[in-house]
Amino acid sequence: MPEISIVVPCFNESEVIETFHATLIGVLESTGKSFELCYVDDGSSDHTRAHLQQLAAADRRTRYTSFSRNFGKESAMLAGLRMTRGKAVVLMDADLQHPPSLIPRMLELRGHGYDQVVAQRDRTGEGVVRTRLSQAYYRLVRRFMEVEVVDGAGDFRLLSRRAVNALLSLPESNRFSKGLFSWIGFDTVSFTYENVERAAGQSKWGGRRLLNYGIDGLLSFNSRPLRMAIHAGLWLFLSALLYAAWIVANVVVDGVETPGYATLIAVIVGMSGVQIATMGVIGEYVGRIYHESKRRPHYVVRETDGSEPPGPLPAA
Ligand code: UDP
Ligand code: MG
Repeated sequence: MPEISIVVPCFNESEVIETFHATLIGVLESTGKSFELCYVDDGSSDHTRAHLQQLAAADRRTRYTSFSRNFGKESAMLAGLRMTRGKAVVLMDADLQHPPSLIPRMLELRGHGYDQVVAQRDRTGEGVVRTRLSQAYYRLVRRFMEVEVVDGAGDFRLLSRRAVNALLSLPESNRFSKGLFSWIGFDTVSFTYENVERAAGQSKWGGRRLLNYGIDGLLSFNSRPLRMAIHAGLWLFLSALLYAAWIVANVVVDGVETPGYATLIAVIVGMSGVQIATMGVIGEYVGRIYHESKRRPHYVVRETDGSEPPGPLPAA
């Protein structure tokens, strides 16, 4: 059983994977601890899989699982976690934006007894708009969810074996790791590092993908948005009642005047907007129930380095 397992989800990373691997091995060897590398090829359409095959063939500590298509980073991380056997697990990206040089620091903090060590990036070099938007988003998430999600605290973290097992015991198919990490609890410590640009290749997170990820994050954790929708509906209903009463009173006092056509239309349009939004929220939840009830696996494995494909049960 190795002391450290590294989980790396890779999607079209053939441009950086070799450099990443070399850097990572260098850092890990310098720690003097035993380790294994668990790469997950998330259905890449470039040569990522071929690179992984070579790396695994050349080094027994390197293992990989390759998906039949792109299932998304969350699924890739899950498969990677299921592959691990180490006492501590580090999750990191393949593009060197999560500097391997920080791993010794993480191990040191693990040595102080923390079950989760989070490397939190600052936002140097990132566009102002994106920074502002993500900050606003995290504020929103914190209000809605019962779990604490920190801005800039991504997936670069070290987890103890028991924290990994806790994560793997969560059965949901719609996984929002940032929330799950916080949900499982345990002693967590974080430190900040300076954001670095991706070493090569391209980011896979366009605006649309980010927006969908954001919606997932908000809805996957609890039904508070639904509760908010109900509250909003009740308040609106109440104000509509008051408004109606006011109109009736007006008619009684002044007699029928020119009907307030514009006001009426405004109210109807406003109310339908709220109704449609509310229905959308409800629909999202129904969709999620449907999705969960199908109990589909998170991914389909195409091949591995020869070891058992990572299955739904936590590694013993
Ligand atoms: N990734 C993945 N599946 C995907 C998209 C991304 O496994 O569908 C991996 C990717 O290879 C990288 C990590 O997730 O190792 C982070 O992706 P990226 O660097 O594109 O995101 P960014 O750093 O721009 O947020
Ligand atoms: Mg990146």
